[in-house]
Amino acid sequence: MKRRARAEADLGQYGVLAEYNRKRRFGVTPEPPGRPGRRRAAGLAFVIQKHRASHLHYDFRLEHQGAMLSWAVPKGPSPDPSVKRLAMMTEPHPMDYNDFEGVIPEGEYGGGTVMIWDRGTWEPEVPDVTAALAKGDLKFTLHGKKLRGSWVLVRTRNRQWLLIKHRDRYASNEDVTLTRPLSVVSRRTMAGIARAARATPRQLTLAAAADPPRASRTA
Ligand code: MN
Repeated sequence: MKRRARAEADLGQYGVLAEYNRKRRFGVTPEPPGRPGRRRAAGLAFVIQKHRASHLHYDFRLEHQGAMLSWAVPKGPSPDPSVKRLAMMTEPHPMDYNDFEGVIPEGEYGGGTVMIWDRGTWEPEVPDVTAALAKGDLKFTLHGKKLRGSWVLVRTRNRQWLLIKHRDRYASNEDVTLTRPLSVVSRRTMAGIARAARATPRQLTLAAAADPPRASRTA
């Protein structure tokens, strides 16, 4: 009991990452423990992780004050300005998580295959990000490999937001989740990531089903 109380007290110092740490067993999952990150000179980090947990979703993450603000986007981002994608705000993740691609073991929080689907940097289009988040209207520019240009996250209620592309030269009606299905760091499919991590047969089947048909042949 004493030990547990101390562990919880220790997590408190991690502020916005306390929830991330509380949900995970770091002796079991290969995910990194949550600690405050350091801002890199290249600008604010942006990453999207395709995650086949209990349901397939795309974790959309933006660096803010040493952590990654996170939204789970079930259908993935759309570069079509007429398409609004539901984005559920989830617990902020550590910046170290941006390099995580692999398999979270079955039975653990978020168990399943994780792919680094896109990454790069982002720029706020507002003077004060904290104020924009409080207001529920964050406009920003993405400099990713797959996603570029101007976007907005708009809160509809509580943790529910919408991710919408603004009209600019990067807008298109291409379904990038189907046409650009591979990892931007390893060029692997979901199935390839699961296989390399020696996932269970069940996780391998789920990962493969999250790849578009013939994804392994379309780089
Ligand atoms: Mn997730």
